[in-house]
Amino acid sequence: MSCLKREVALPSAIGANGLDFNAALDMLPRAEGIRPGGSDTDMQPRVPVPTPREAKNGGRVKHANVPPAGVYLPNNNRLTPNMRSPEYVQLSTAAAITLGIMPGKMHGCSCTRCLNLLLTYPEGCRANCAYCGLARHREADRDYADRNFIRVDWPAVPMAEIVAKVARDGVNTPFHRMCISMITHPNSDADTVTVLKQWTDRIDPATVPVSILSNPTTMTRGDVQTLYELGAEIFTVALDAATPEIFDRTRGKGVQSPHSWAKYWEIMEAARDIFGPQKFGAHIIVGMGETEHDTLALVQRLVDIGGHSHMFCFFPEKGSLMDHLPATPRDQWRRVQIARYLIDYRGVRVEHMRFDEAGRVSDFGIPKSELDAVIDQGLAFRTSGCPGKFREDLSACDRPYGDSPPSNIASYPFQPRPADLRKIRHQLGMEKPGEAYEEGEEIEVDAAGP
Ligand code: SF4
Repeated sequence: MSCLKREVALPSAIGANGLDFNAALDMLPRAEGIRPGGSDTDMQPRVPVPTPREAKNGGRVKHANVPPAGVYLPNNNRLTPNMRSPEYVQLSTAAAITLGIMPGKMHGCSCTRCLNLLLTYPEGCRANCAYCGLARHREADRDYADRNFIRVDWPAVPMAEIVAKVARDGVNTPFHRMCISMITHPNSDADTVTVLKQWTDRIDPATVPVSILSNPTTMTRGDVQTLYELGAEIFTVALDAATPEIFDRTRGKGVQSPHSWAKYWEIMEAARDIFGPQKFGAHIIVGMGETEHDTLALVQRLVDIGGHSHMFCFFPEKGSLMDHLPATPRDQWRRVQIARYLIDYRGVRVEHMRFDEAGRVSDFGIPKSELDAVIDQGLAFRTSGCPGKFREDLSACDRPYGDSPPSNIASYPFQPRPADLRKIRHQLGMEKPGEAYEEGEEIEVDAAGP
């Protein structure tokens, strides 16, 4: 395996087992001493600490029963109130800043174009996905509404207040899209319907289209149909894992979580039939032990049935069962970003690409001049997701720093600047002659005011 190691690597470019990518399980040397299920070299989730009885099922919050009063900012030295959807929802820090509910600034961007909402209950999500900050095992240390999710806090706000604010802005709203994230909870299906109705009663979906980030485990085909008829425009399934084995290990039986690959595909296929081409898709997390070829074969499968893929770079979310594992090395991530962009928007097929013995992209299947143009355009490196109003291949959902810190950006929530593109080329090992990247130069660009 020594041929897979880089001679020189950025500190952030070291993946599992010292490789320059987070390798598939069967690629790893099975040296003596690597403990199955406990090693930090094979992208295995850790074992959770047991949850005290009184903390189970939102016990602490329900016992204290503090009545909610307006906006709740997480981790703010207040007892977590007893908040519950559909009256309450949580929203991303970026959406809260954009709505004026929270003070703050985001590196490189003045607002987000997607209003991401998350259903909330004291019992929280009943699933236990290993990479997720909302997972059930966190009952042991943190009340649901105080949990970090994709690296940020999610303030809780009365849904009526959000609707009133966006309705007041009318066509001048900064948002290009609203998205309801369901979680695994017995009330989630019904409450998603209520939240969607509350929105469409006041806000024209032509002004702010709605996406659903679904929870297939509790859903039927009839539920998908209902959401379509109520005006949702795009339906997505957070498949997250690129293969059935990784799915099972990170969000199925491997972590005592209720999800199954087959059920997720059943609901995705229902969405294909009901929402139609280009109006459904799947989330995929890159770097959880799959090969680049695994991910891109899945991207191709989604395109072939008429859908899209929305990608995240694996980041060890604090408090999650994978918080001890390495983030996806940037070279792996950049290759997959480019290849996914080519398959989703440029008609290139995975069969046109070539892969090395470790499943890494070695040839993108297009001439170098075209590849250079795609890299220089920068769109491939921006956050992927449901489109906004600017162009089909530019996501409204920019999730600022949801999969990386601003100091080492994975998905760019803004158009990469020349210094960012030099950094990206450096990460890919594809620097242009005479345009070498100097460590930290993109930070200086920002400090000077781009
Ligand atoms: S179902 Fe979604 S919210 Fe719940 S633990 Fe899994 S990834 Fe997190």
